[in-house]
Amino acid sequence: MNKVDIYNDLETICGSCTILKDVPMKEHTTMKVGGNADLMIIPESFSCIQKIVKLLQSTNTPYMIMGNGSNLIFRDEGYNGVIVKIGKPLSDIEVHDDIIVAMAGASLAQVANTALEHSLTGLEFASGIPGSVGGAVYMNAGAYDGEMGQVVIETLCLDSRGNMITLKGDEHNFSYRHSRIQDDNLTCLQVIMKLKKGEKSKIQSKMNELNAKRREKQPLNYPSAGSIFKRPPGSFAGMLVDNCGLRGARIGGAQVSDKHCGFIVNTGNATASDIISLIQYVQDTVYKNSGIWLELEVKIVGGY
Ligand SMILES: Cc1cc2nc3c(=O)[nH]c(=O)nc-3n(C[C@H](O)[C@H](O)[C@H](O)COP(=O)(O)OP(=O)(O)OC[C@H]3O[C@@H](n4cnc5c(N)ncnc54)[C@H](O)[C@@H]3O)c2cc1C
Repeated sequence: MNKVDIYNDLETICGSCTILKDVPMKEHTTMKVGGNADLMIIPESFSCIQKIVKLLQSTNTPYMIMGNGSNLIFRDEGYNGVIVKIGKPLSDIEVHDDIIVAMAGASLAQVANTALEHSLTGLEFASGIPGSVGGAVYMNAGAYDGEMGQVVIETLCLDSRGNMITLKGDEHNFSYRHSRIQDDNLTCLQVIMKLKKGEKSKIQSKMNELNAKRREKQPLNYPSAGSIFKRPPGSFAGMLVDNCGLRGARIGGAQVSDKHCGFIVNTGNATASDIISLIQYVQDTVYKNSGIWLELEVKIVGGY
């Protein structure tokens, strides 16, 4: 891609959006590793996203949509293309009775807190997940007894040609850490969730309880991308890793958390290559030990 031309084209069509060059992706991801993206644009409106996607497609420019970067590992070589980061400018949240309408860039924790303020139950599970609403719907993020698919009733998306479409209910094809947004390469713009009226004190204490569990079990004092692996059917990734004696195993600055073996943490100076090498080492070792191949929950991105 010709960086200068694309930068100029983006500025022409969406001058009010923030456009950044040579962006260190370690500053935009919770794992805090990775090289530079050529360009990043932070759209200010749905129509800007639409214009951006149409431009990038018509010019065959590699691009990727991201939210809060809490499920992403960018390679050290960086990303040769445009990152479209859906964040703060698109984070409005509205409440209408038991319905919450959130733009994709809203933080999931903020949406869960809004539900609490309005005594709405159903999003307690989400208050400790550090993603955006769009990323959470894409991943069908979940924890404990909840997942996004239980509350999402409608989304406004862009299809892969840049047309706005609405998905309702079952059309999202939600399953474990999966949604149609992944299959059809959609961009999620806005999410409508239906909750239930509840008792504020009960909602608050459930959130407190789940967040206390999280603090007790997860290495939240180190940069990470949450659970690295999906839960294999009938088992637990962390347990399989632990059974191989890999608790605390290290490559460079990457470490299998000694608190939760399903997490790989950046102990401070890890490179993406350390993290990816350790992931591969864990996958190979677990496979040799148990015959189970651990699928990635995180997405590894970039490289040339
Ligand atoms: C400490 C920690 C704890 C975590 N705990 C949990 C947990 O309990 N449960 C859980 O499910 N996850 C957990 N995660 C992982 C992560 O928070 C979720 O996967 C979250 O949903 C990712 O959202 P995001 O906005 O950060 O997405 P990103 O990491 O930015 O992107 C993830 C994927 O979503 C796509 N995407 C993002 N936004 C959009 C959009 N608007 N439209 C289309 N595609 C989009 C991206 O292209 C990418 O493929 C945890 C992570 C951390 C660091």
